[in-house]
This record gives sequence, C-alpha cells and structure tokens, in this order.
Amino acid sequence: MGDYTKPLPHPNEVSQPFWDAAKRYELQIQRCNACGTYIFYPREACSECLAADLIWIPVSGKGTLYSYTIAQAPTHPAFADDVPYVIAIVELEEGPHITTNLVGCQPDQVTIGMPVVASFEEVSAEMTLVKFRPE
Ligand SMILES: [Zn+2]
Repeated sequence: MGDYTKPLPHPNEVSQPFWDAAKRYELQIQRCNACGTYIFYPREACSECLAADLIWIPVSGKGTLYSYTIAQAPTHPAFADDVPYVIAIVELEEGPHITTNLVGCQPDQVTIGMPVVASFEEVSAEMTLVKFRPE
C-alpha cells in the first residue's frame, strides 16, 4: 500500500457512504424508503419513484455474473501488467447491477450466471475497492 499507482474512484457527497462501507469490507447500497427498491449506483433520488428518501443498508455481497468482457489490452496504461482481466457486470441478489472486476479465477473459467461474492481490495489508507470473485 502507499505505492498504488492506478486510477482511483473519486468519492463525492452522494457516494461516500459506499466507500466508507468498503473500508470496513462491507458492501452497502441504497434502498428507497418510499417504495423499497434497491438502488445502485449511488444517487440522490430513487430510480423507480423519484423519492429522495434513500437509506444505506448492508447487502449480502452475493450475486451472479450478468455479463462480462475480457480485457486483452489495457483500458488504461496503468493496467498494462494486469491483462488479461475481467470487466464484469454482477447482478446482486437484491437486484441492482454493479460494474466491477471479477478476480480470483482465470478468464477462461468465467461463465454467465456463475455465483459470485464481493471481494475487497485495500489499495491505500483511504480507499478499498470492491471487486467480485467466484463464490
Ligand atoms: Zn422509490
């Protein structure tokens, strides 16, 4: 740690709780108090009913692989040593989709629908990334 040189997310006022939870190795997303819909990515109003009454709650971290691609060329020069790597869309048990990296398996072992679970990578004192791995 301390020498992590890859691009990092820039949390803002709306998304900060997601990153605070990740630092505790916990996956939290928003849920609408008005209609109960689970929401990801972080936002100020419900994507279903537009209510601004959203709360942050811990979720299971479990899901299935909804879609993926294998990056054979780096999407940024800082990732050159990582290829090939898996850019994935995970469907959480609670419903929302989350764009992430799938780690802990070879790209040729990846299949749509495979069960996955959140995996946390502490890259600096301030930032822990949320990735997924096979369950
Ligand atoms: Zn709602």
